[in-house]
Amino acid sequence: MKGDDGMKDVGEQLAERLKKLNWNKDYRQLINDAFNDVEVKEFIKENQGELSQEDIARSASKVYEFVSVKNKIKRGEETHAPGYDPQLTLNNHLIDVTYIPSEALLLQKKQQAIHNRVRSINMPKDIRDAELADYDLEGRELAAQAAGRFIDEYSSAPKKFHRAMYLQGSFGVGKTYLLGAIANGLAEEGFTSTLLHFPSFAVEMKNSIGNNGTMKMVDEVKRTPILMLDDIGADQLSSWIRDDILGVILQYRMQEELPTFFSSNLDMVNLEKQYLTTNNRGEAEPLKAKRIMERIRFLAKEFRIIGRNRRQFKN
Ligand code: ADP
Ligand code: MG
Repeated sequence: MKGDDGMKDVGEQLAERLKKLNWNKDYRQLINDAFNDVEVKEFIKENQGELSQEDIARSASKVYEFVSVKNKIKRGEETHAPGYDPQLTLNNHLIDVTYIPSEALLLQKKQQAIHNRVRSINMPKDIRDAELADYDLEGRELAAQAAGRFIDEYSSAPKKFHRAMYLQGSFGVGKTYLLGAIANGLAEEGFTSTLLHFPSFAVEMKNSIGNNGTMKMVDEVKRTPILMLDDIGADQLSSWIRDDILGVILQYRMQEELPTFFSSNLDMVNLEKQYLTTNNRGEAEPLKAKRIMERIRFLAKEFRIIGRNRRQFKN
C-alpha cells in the first residue's frame, strides 16, 4: 500500500515537473505512459531507497527508451539493436537502460556454433537440419539405434576407438539424411565432423592433380575427427583415386583409430567386387580392392536401410 502511494506521488511530481518545463503535451503523455509500465513501476519500487523523486524525474528519457524499445520488440518491429532486450538498471542514482542478448539471439548463436561443427563438402543443404529425433524408424530401427549409441559412446569417450557405420541402401531411403543427423547430434555434444560427397570429391581431386591444394585437401580430410564419406561406389573409380586418395585417407584413419562413416548403394561385398576391384580402364585389381575393404570393415559396421524412395521429384 505504502509503495502504491509512493508511486502516485512520483507520477504527480513528475507531471508538475514536466508542466514547469512546458513540454509538449503528446510527449508528456508518452512519458506518463512509460512510467505506468508494470516493469517500470516494479523497478522503481524495488529501488526506492536509491532513487529520489528528482532522480526518477531526471531518468524520464531512459524510462521512455526502455518502454518504447520493449513495445517495439513486442510488436515484432526492428529495433536499433536487433536481438537485444532492454533492461532497466541503476546507474549512479539514475535509471539507465542496458541491452542484453535476447533468448532468441542466444539460441541462434548456439545453433550457429553447432552448425559450424559440421563441415559439408558438396553435400545437399537439407541435411543441415537433419535430426535423429525426426528420423522415421520404419526399416531402419537398428541403424537408428546404433546411430544414437554411437553418439552417446563417442561423446563419453572421444579418445577411444569407436567403430562407425556403413549405411547401405537403395537410392532415396535416407542414408545421407541419417549421416547428417549423426553429424548434427555429435555437433550438439561439441564434436566436429566432415561430410563429404565422395564422387564429387574424387572429381575435384582429379581436376586438381599436381596442384598443391590436392594433397592439402586430402590431408585435412584424413585428419578430421569424424569423417563421413557419402555415396561411395556411385562413380567409376580410377586406381589413383582408390590407392592414393581413398587408400591414404583410410590407412591414416585406421592407424589413428578415427571414426569414419560410409554410405553406399552397394553392400560391402558388392562394393569390393563392383567398385573397388575393376578400375576405370577395366583392369581387375582384386588384391588392392581387398586391402581397401579391410580398412572399411575395420572402421565401420554394415547396416542395411530399407524403405521407400523419399525423394520428391518436382516437375
Ligand atoms: P539417400 O542418401 O539414401 O539417397 P537421402 O538421405 O538423400 O537418401 O533422403 C532422400 C530424401 O528424403 C531427402 O530429401 C531427405 O531429406 C528425405 N529424408 C530422408 N530420410 C528422412 C526422414 N527420416 N525423415 C524425413 N525426411 C527424410
Ligand atoms: Mg545420399
